[in-house]
Amino acid sequence: MLQLKIITSAIINVLFPAECPACKTRSAKFPVPICERCTQDISSSSSLPSTSSFYLAKILSCRPYDGTLKQCIRQFKYHRTERMILVFDELIKKTYLKNKHSLNDIDIIVPVPINKHKKRLRGFNQAEILAQVLGNTLSLPVPSANLKKIKKTIPQAGLSKEKRINNLIKAFSIREPLLIKEKHILLVDDVMTTGATLDTCAKELLKAGAKSVTGFTLARTL
Ligand SMILES: [Zn+2]
Repeated sequence: MLQLKIITSAIINVLFPAECPACKTRSAKFPVPICERCTQDISSSSSLPSTSSFYLAKILSCRPYDGTLKQCIRQFKYHRTERMILVFDELIKKTYLKNKHSLNDIDIIVPVPINKHKKRLRGFNQAEILAQVLGNTLSLPVPSANLKKIKKTIPQAGLSKEKRINNLIKAFSIREPLLIKEKHILLVDDVMTTGATLDTCAKELLKAGAKSVTGFTLARTL
C-alpha cells in the first residue's frame, strides 16, 4: 500500500513537478523536494571554517544559515517536508568527508533536545533526524533521549547571548550518565546562532562525565 502511494506520487510528480519551496518554480523532481538549481546552489555555496565555544573545542557547520539552505531548513521544520533530509544528507556527508580527521575519536552522537510539548506539536525533533543521518554516515550509535530538555524556555530568537544563556539555566538534564561517561561526544543541532544552546548542552554532558564534546550543525548564522 505504501509502495503504491510512493509510485503514484512519483508519477504525479513527473507529470506535474512540485513547487520548489526555495525558488517557488514548479520544477522539483521527486523524490528530492527542491529543484536542481537550488540543489546545486546549496552544494556549491562556500563551506565554513570550524569555530569553538567555552565548552566545545570545535564546532563544525555545513553552510551559512542563509539563502536556499535557510528556506530548506524552515520548510523541513515548520512544514514537515521530511524528504528534505535527502538534501541535508548530501551536505552532511560532504562536511564529514572534509573534516574526517577531527571526528575520528567520536564514540556517540547526541542530538540537542527540544521539550516534549514542542516535539508533540512539531511531530519530530529535527536535531534527532540529523543525528540519525550522522549516525549512519559515521557508523556510530545515537542513544535516544538521553539528553533531555526539562524546562519550557521562551524562544531564543531576538534575545542577546547573555539572555539566551540565562534562559537555558537548568533547561537540560542527562537521563543515563553512564552512557556518556568517558565518551567523546558529537552534539548535533540544525542551526547554530550564538552557540548558547550547544554550549549549555555541552556543559551538562561534561558535568556528567563526558570526555569531550564536539558540535555539528547543518547551518550557522554568520
Ligand atoms: Zn528551486
